[in-house]
Amino acid sequence: MTETKSKQTNRFEFQAEVSQLLDILTHSLYSHRDVFVRELISNAADALDKVRFMEVKGEPIRDAELDYQIKITLDKDKKWMEISDTGIGMTKEELIDNIGTIARSGTSQFVKQLKESKSEDINLIGRFGVGFYSVFMAGEKVEITTRSAQPESTAYVWTSDGKGSFEIVDGPDDAKRGTSIKIFLREDATEFAEEFRVKNTIETYSNFVPFPIYVGDEQVNKISAIWREPKSNIKDDQYNEFYKFIAKQPDDALTWLHFSADVPLQFNALLFVPKTNMELMGFGKEEGIHLFVKRVLVDSHAKEVLPNYLRFIHGVVESDDLPLNISRETLQENPYLIKIRNTIVGKFLTHLQEFGESNPEGYQTFWKEHGRILKEGYGDYTHKDKVAELFRFNSSKCVDDKEFISLTTYVDRMHEKQEEILFLSGPNRDALDNHPAMEIFKSKNIEVLYCYDPVDEFVLPGLFTFKDKKIISADQTDLSKLKDITSAKEQKTDSKTDETPKADDKDLDKLARRIKDILGNKVESVKLSERLVDSPAVLVGTDKGMSSQMEKIMHLMNKEMQIAPKVMEINKSHPMILNMLSMYQKDALDPMLTKMANGLFATVQLLDGSLDDPYTTVSSIQAILSDAAQLYVKPEMPESK
Ligand code: ADP
Repeated sequence: MTETKSKQTNRFEFQAEVSQLLDILTHSLYSHRDVFVRELISNAADALDKVRFMEVKGEPIRDAELDYQIKITLDKDKKWMEISDTGIGMTKEELIDNIGTIARSGTSQFVKQLKESKSEDINLIGRFGVGFYSVFMAGEKVEITTRSAQPESTAYVWTSDGKGSFEIVDGPDDAKRGTSIKIFLREDATEFAEEFRVKNTIETYSNFVPFPIYVGDEQVNKISAIWREPKSNIKDDQYNEFYKFIAKQPDDALTWLHFSADVPLQFNALLFVPKTNMELMGFGKEEGIHLFVKRVLVDSHAKEVLPNYLRFIHGVVESDDLPLNISRETLQENPYLIKIRNTIVGKFLTHLQEFGESNPEGYQTFWKEHGRILKEGYGDYTHKDKVAELFRFNSSKCVDDKEFISLTTYVDRMHEKQEEILFLSGPNRDALDNHPAMEIFKSKNIEVLYCYDPVDEFVLPGLFTFKDKKIISADQTDLSKLKDITSAKEQKTDSKTDETPKADDKDLDKLARRIKDILGNKVESVKLSERLVDSPAVLVGTDKGMSSQMEKIMHLMNKEMQIAPKVMEINKSHPMILNMLSMYQKDALDPMLTKMANGLFATVQLLDGSLDDPYTTVSSIQAILSDAAQLYVKPEMPESK
């Protein structure tokens, strides 16, 4: 920002991003242009909240006798509108910093979005911390007169036409505490000097502003703190209207919970779940809880009231048992707040469970939008079971990848002899359905949860157990535990003689050792498999627990990090393995055996998704292909020469 000093005037350039935003705002015609009224009223209400908070903390404030209020004055003939508040006001530095610069992130994304001109997006302007600038959708010139609530403050007047620069001059001595914004309306926006138009806008957007709003001498909004009223008094429409106001959302809420507690602690809570997750759309963390203490808003983004994994919730929590004069640091450790938080979390998780039971379709939306964040709750020791109850997964027994089941459903339909909850991670349903590690579970008709989201690899093992059943990756479970569960195939072959080709385990062990020699440290070991039915081989995790799962994710984030080698299991009765055994028995050092071992490894690595050197993989498969081609054409070679 550059400052050109003249005698009484200070002229400043807007920050580049602001100019860009202003340019778009002034040159586009938006269908929701009236949002500027909402944004200015919302700023006025914030300013009033702040000065009220100062006052209850006992700090000295200027013009203490003034009522907290917002006043709108209109002049139809001169085509202007003025919004005044008796709030906290701004010093000169604050004027420069707050109105002229954008500190918050996300603005450039918003500007981009606007450029691509989705006119409804203007509705979201307040969410990006740039709501003030919407005034230039209606005003060709804007004049702000402001005086800070600090006792020794002076008044200033800020003016701008929104075209690149603004000016600040000293304001009148008799100006009172607070801010007045006078908007000289554009020719195409003179409707905002009409009383009915302005009242209408306030009824639409600002009904819940907790300070009186006067248009002329008439108070337009009905002030009601609906979270303090009994549930039976409030209709769904009112809840939704309040939600849209407080969450700055255009849609109704997906579901809400309203309750109050009296003993041992007194508090009211009204909590909403949005239909869309703004954070996943790139809007930054939400943290939308308004915390009131003794009717004073102490924080409009109170992080401390809910755990991080419920940050998608918007709403109000009010308690008179909390001290008013409290800093954020001490709030976090306040024993009352900890108790309030625990009660709210418990009740809310129960509410979500009931919502899932009574409205499965709505719950699908909930899980799709907020599931990713809710999963972070796996580490909440106190509420672990309730949180886990809310999780949903696709599974090998679902009809398609759209169906989701809860862990409870999984446990309810577990085989009576099955001890563990099994999951397998992979990119999609097809990949997991065809994963060799699934063969044994399919043959024994055992359900496996399918996980497509990389965080599941932390979340599920992180829960350790659910309903006393251990949760473990299907490729790491101890298969001997499943031996009492007979497979369809075993049942069939029980009566008949086993027709599958067999070789001696001792011989096969030797082959396995030879393959390990060939592959070297690309594999941890080569073992005879108990799990394979149709595939020749598979890669499985070692029994070092979570580490190999974690490693895969770490590797995704940091390519430098090496993935620890896995165990390759080979299928004792697969014709290809048996042929490799014959080759080995004829000549343990047969170069073709080496090529086959490398080729086999390449294919299982592909299936496992842990391929990180495509060149070696491709060349080892191509080596076999060229041998095969040569074998095929060999008998005809003499003729063709
Ligand atoms: P946001 O309100 O989301 O921070 P705005 O662009 O609407 O973004 O406002 C920027 C800042 O200007 C506010 O955060 C506040 O500090 C200051 N401000 C705006 N209007 C007023 C007002 N009426 N009284 C005091 N400060 C205000």
